[in-house]
Amino acid sequence: MRVCVYNDQLLGALAADGTIVDLTDLVPEHTSVGERMNALITGWDSLRTPAAARVAAGGGTPEAEATLRAPQPRPRNVFAAPVNYHKHQQEMGGDAGVYAGRQILTAEVRKGFLKAVTSIVGPDGAIELPWPDRRFDHEAEVGIIIGKTASRVLAEDALDYVYGYTPLLDITLRGEEDRSYRKSMDTFTPIGPYIVTADEVPEPENLDFWLTVNGEPRQKSNTSYLIYGIAKLIEVYSEVMTLQPGDIIATGTPEGVGQILPGDTVVLTIPEIGELTMPVVSRP
Ligand code: MN
Repeated sequence: MRVCVYNDQLLGALAADGTIVDLTDLVPEHTSVGERMNALITGWDSLRTPAAARVAAGGGTPEAEATLRAPQPRPRNVFAAPVNYHKHQQEMGGDAGVYAGRQILTAEVRKGFLKAVTSIVGPDGAIELPWPDRRFDHEAEVGIIIGKTASRVLAEDALDYVYGYTPLLDITLRGEEDRSYRKSMDTFTPIGPYIVTADEVPEPENLDFWLTVNGEPRQKSNTSYLIYGIAKLIEVYSEVMTLQPGDIIATGTPEGVGQILPGDTVVLTIPEIGELTMPVVSRP
């Protein structure tokens, strides 16, 4: 199933007839607007069947007439893997403008960092660059949405704890500031337009994906090249941090990262998951 948040923060799913059907009333009435996706994911074992019935029936809002928001506006945490592809490690170490000559350590050493949840933005928004005189880069990533509370989960069991997957951009300021600061600015975690539930992604560790800027190819890879794969990331993080339903893990970016500028259009395509298109603007 392809679930989303649309229009006035309604919960939805893409139906068989191409419309978006409303799932909002499936979650408890008292649920605050921002918590609706968390409630859907938490209750998914019992909500999956009624949601699927609506998807089969259709008759919702035509997709082209709906405004798609960030499909998960309020995770409790956004975990993120630092350098998690070898070819990205190589390019960072060779980048004269940024980290030349330094040892670039991968996720095997650095493990992870957190991105502020307030950095999330959906396809209805834009990537807003705060300053004209600093370098900001795109990072194409596959986003994991956690489905069940996960503590000390082994990799062999880890995929059972995944609710779904979504395209994710880890927008990054290059420089000396701490990683969490450089990657947590408002609008620096675009996600969406849909979360595709895990049952429709049989091989998450073999997903092709690519990114273009103004139509020019920049990044192209496959999750099979991850240093810490999807299941291993869940094992490593859940060993010491409890992952909660709705939490996001940004899995890391492959080679080809580069600068974005106001006026650019960034498109991240993961054929099995969806396509996220984001304009880049100067912060208003
Ligand atoms: Mn990243």
